[in-house]
Amino acid sequence: MTMTAAVCDPCPHTHHAEDAAARIGCSVITLKRKAARGEIRGTKVGREWRFSDEAIADAIRDGERRPAPPRRDSRRRS
Ligand SMILES: [Zn+2]
Repeated sequence: MTMTAAVCDPCPHTHHAEDAAARIGCSVITLKRKAARGEIRGTKVGREWRFSDEAIADAIRDGERRPAPPRRDSRRRS
């Protein structure tokens, strides 16, 4: 488990759910749930999810648009 910064290989590659969730800033469970619902693009390889940089970036942008399900930062809701 590496916690290196967001420097990625230039060639197409995918991230494990744990890595993608860390980059998005959500839990792995949330990520997998969203992926299963089709809210986040992901590739299922066997029983494991893989996420492209694009999908991760989209997920982050998507999270900016709508209020995420209440987690840590839920005090902005009136
Ligand atoms: Zn990457």
